[in-house]
Amino acid sequence: MSFTIAIDGPAAAGKGTISKAVAAHFAMAHLDTGLLYRAVGAQMLQGADPLVAAQSLRPEDLDAANLRSPEVALAASQVAVMAEVRAELLAFQRGFARREGGAVLDGRDIGTVIFPKAEVKLFVTASAEVRARRRHQELVADGTQIDFDQVLADVTTRDARDAERAESPMIAAVDAVMIDTSNLTINAAIAVAVSIVQEEIIS
Ligand code: C5P
Repeated sequence: MSFTIAIDGPAAAGKGTISKAVAAHFAMAHLDTGLLYRAVGAQMLQGADPLVAAQSLRPEDLDAANLRSPEVALAASQVAVMAEVRAELLAFQRGFARREGGAVLDGRDIGTVIFPKAEVKLFVTASAEVRARRRHQELVADGTQIDFDQVLADVTTRDARDAERAESPMIAAVDAVMIDTSNLTINAAIAVAVSIVQEEIIS
């Protein structure tokens, strides 16, 4: 049986953590679609043509060590405005969404473009300051030396580029359930998401 859960939202809102936890709870597969754009962005930073990188993307490229860096995040958002790059990555995401046993995909356009028929759509958000604080803490914990103000600027640059692009902009689907995690612990946010999915499964 296939069952698709689309989880969209801006950078560092908690959608990755929520997606992983929801997938584990319901024993479904999980795809962090941001990694596709990060892998293409990382190859662009090394001089590759983004379209060629998207066409020749291999599963092991998603495990590259540097994909979480701030530079790669910004490069990802640059290649993500390119319609041809997005088109290359579409079929893989759609196939994943319909795999047997259910799938959770997180990104920016899952509920609107990649799989508008998803059984559950969530849009996870939080204030820019809260998101930047979380991302800053993660980066510092990983040993990256970076100022909070720089992280905040990167997050807002990426938000604007993702929301204002012509191709598949980041926007909540009209039928998405909004979850604002600004004042929620991660466990509380996960519990909200799990209960929304549970309700849909039993309905
Ligand atoms: O989710 P993450 O922060 O890893 O995504 C990195 C970048 O990839 C985003 O800022 C966005 O530009 C792009 N992206 C996208 N569509 C998706 C997932 C990510 O455009 N479905």
